[in-house]
Amino acid sequence: MRLKDKAILVTAAGQGIGRASALALAAEGAKVTATDINGDLLSGLDGIETAVLDVTDPNAVKAIAAQVGPLDGLFNCAGVVHNGSLLDIEDKDWDFAFSLNVTAMMRICREVMPGMLERAQETGTASIVNMASMASSIKGFPNRTAYGASKAAVIGLSKAIAADYVKQGIRCNALCPGTVDTPSLRSRIASAADPVQAERDFIARQPMGRLATVDDIVPMVVYLLSDESRFVSGQAMLVDGGVTI
Ligand code: NAD
Repeated sequence: MRLKDKAILVTAAGQGIGRASALALAAEGAKVTATDINGDLLSGLDGIETAVLDVTDPNAVKAIAAQVGPLDGLFNCAGVVHNGSLLDIEDKDWDFAFSLNVTAMMRICREVMPGMLERAQETGTASIVNMASMASSIKGFPNRTAYGASKAAVIGLSKAIAADYVKQGIRCNALCPGTVDTPSLRSRIASAADPVQAERDFIARQPMGRLATVDDIVPMVVYLLSDESRFVSGQAMLVDGGVTI
């Protein structure tokens, strides 16, 4: 058991990478609290504590931080993709991307930090994983202006947190997946003018010839939240099937 008795909070655990991570973390012995804005999606997470959480609601974030108590680990997975180039962005889209992808993440880190510092004082370590993307400061992609800018901010936020708390045992890393086959990717493909071509295009940019599955990404989440990564902090960890080779 690589995460025995570690208390870990996961956001956006209703589907996709968040859900698969919550299950994998629990299987490694963690005491997981799995949260999502959509309570229905949290059903079936047997043996895992669940709670409805809209990460953009500051009061709800304060409440969940109080509810879970001191944490050993946090996986900030919630995020939204805005599809569009610079000329497609309306202010409200930009604001929403930053509110959900960056501001909410900062608030959760801030609210759980006192408890994490407490835990790290007892155990020597606590770990935050913030969901970024290969589409960020790492690489530009068409039609990902608001998304790429907000995910670049996630990398900056994670490095800053890592720098501030490294001497107190807190590690903070950004996770940068390639294109992962999840429900939201499927809806992006379905809403394209030509869905068959859209899927082909996503696969065509993958040197390994396929999309990632959640099972390609989850081992990095488990590693970063385990003590195996005890010498790793402030990094943007790419799991992208070679897209950025
Ligand atoms: P998804 O987009 O299919 O599911 C997202 C989940 O987030 C849903 O369960 C939804 O209910 C929840 N959610 C939405 N708004 C929320 C809010 N305000 N508060 C709490 N929960 C909320 O899942 P995914 O594709 O695995 O994406 C998860 C994260 O991974 C996102 O941050 C995304 O940007 C990032 N990511 C995804 C890919 C990909 O190709 N799928 C690639 C790189 C990064």
